[in-house]
Amino acid sequence: MSLSAWENWFSNHREKIFQDFFHFLTFKSIGTDPTFDRDTKACASWLAEYLKECGMETALWETSGQPVVFATHCKAENRPTLLVYQHYDVQPVDPLELWESDPFEPTVRDGKVYARGAQDNKGQCFYSITAIKALLELCGELNFNLKLFIEGEEERGSEGTRAAIEAKKEELKCDYMLAIDSTIPDAETPAITLGLRGIITMEITCKGADVDMHSGALGGVAYNPIRALATALSTCWNSSGKVAIPHFYDAVEEMSEDEAKNFVLEMTKKR
Ligand SMILES: [Zn+2]
Repeated sequence: MSLSAWENWFSNHREKIFQDFFHFLTFKSIGTDPTFDRDTKACASWLAEYLKECGMETALWETSGQPVVFATHCKAENRPTLLVYQHYDVQPVDPLELWESDPFEPTVRDGKVYARGAQDNKGQCFYSITAIKALLELCGELNFNLKLFIEGEEERGSEGTRAAIEAKKEELKCDYMLAIDSTIPDAETPAITLGLRGIITMEITCKGADVDMHSGALGGVAYNPIRALATALSTCWNSSGKVAIPHFYDAVEEMSEDEAKNFVLEMTKKR
């Protein structure tokens, strides 16, 4: 199919696409704040309904937190399956006074859409759904199987989502996975992200003696919380920058020689 067919489809549907995208952005799906629970769930239901209208089979998987929107179009027998990951929850909006327009009233300024989640991740989520919609309308059938997994707890640690993944292993089986929740270098440089880092956060409370300890008598002898914390932090890495926590690298696969060579090449290539 020619590029102009896609462009025509887009210009014929442009108004409706923006209308739907803006509607998606008006849901206050702040998954981190229980005050917005109803809005977050309403967002999930709207999304599931929207995907159904696009021609996908949809389901809402309830979790201990926010539901997962799961949609499939699996009609290509003996063909590979692609699973796409996205999320519909957004970050909180405070401080509100720093917003030039209401975070849940999408506004266009200089050709850019401003709203909470327009960039992370409702934007990417909606572009890809629009692409899928065009694909299904223009091609009729697909020569691969497609599954969409759109969670509502990405911004708060995905606790319920993780349990859903465990429970739905069979439904989630796929050959390839694409997480459409990252960035590109700039508008002219499309990119596929090949790896993502995770984070761990924790709070450590370190308590010392509750009586005054004279430095002349006990300084250097009594172990104090500052020293304990400094020791704990300094043992997280060794002198060459490697994480020194036991078993940290146990599940990490070594790069092959080829991969390592390409990786270095990519990292040193100048754009
Ligand atoms: Zn995100």
